[in-house]
Amino acid sequence: MIVVKDLVKKFKDLTVLDGISIEVERGEVVAIIGPSGSGKSTFLRCLNLLETPNKGEIQIGDVKLNAERYSRKQAHALTRQTAMVFQHYNLFKNKTVLQNVTEALIITKKIKPKEANEIGMNLLEQVGLAHKADSYPITLSGGQQQRIGIARALAIDPYALLFDEPTSALDPELVSGVLAVIKEIAERQTTMLIVTHEMDFAREVADKVIFMADGHIVEQGTPEEIFDFPKHERTKKFLQQVG
Ligand code: ADP
Ligand code: MG
Repeated sequence: MIVVKDLVKKFKDLTVLDGISIEVERGEVVAIIGPSGSGKSTFLRCLNLLETPNKGEIQIGDVKLNAERYSRKQAHALTRQTAMVFQHYNLFKNKTVLQNVTEALIITKKIKPKEANEIGMNLLEQVGLAHKADSYPITLSGGQQQRIGIARALAIDPYALLFDEPTSALDPELVSGVLAVIKEIAERQTTMLIVTHEMDFAREVADKVIFMADGHIVEQGTPEEIFDFPKHERTKKFLQQVG
């Protein structure tokens, strides 16, 4: 499982995460919602050490780390437990679609190119893009590029997938295709944390919803608890604004 205890992140004097604690069971899908600037991205980025947390504990699967003292080996082990899907897909422009997916398999996992290609093609099929294997990212729509970003994240078979607003940079008509792919992965008991503005989607796929504001978790619960019976004024106000 994932256990985060009292995570603190500051940028200079600004406390962006003010003691975040969560527990996520294996296979659970967690949606993180909240206003812009509340620390959602920073929280995900701390989990794979794209940002360095100042305090707290992070455990992902069998890798545990204390933010105040950890070795490079521990850091490396922790970052390998997750794969992140970003708002902007960050694909390699000079590599084909298939090469984008197999890169980590060949470089990080030392899998032979032939086998990596087989795994890569299988993943491209899962996101409906096997026919684009030899194309370059620039020739694809934003939705297709994001689906490749997802295939690439799945390639390394991480303990958990982290999605940071995977559809918010997309044209509206491309959103549903990407959400459908994520939903399909969610249904396979993949552990996922998804920061999203898509409330209907969060309600549909999430086992648990976390509402964040100002670097805190204000409340968390089942989609019904958060969306239908929010307890806190802050949550109610946010849901009224986005709904
Ligand atoms: P969210 O994803 O919920 O919109 P973020 O995690 O991006 O929120 O940002 C939380 C706060 O941290 C914001 O006030 C933002 O301006 C600040 N912040 C994020 N990244 C940095 C950074 N690299 N340096 C300084 N401040 C940052
Ligand atoms: Mg963000």
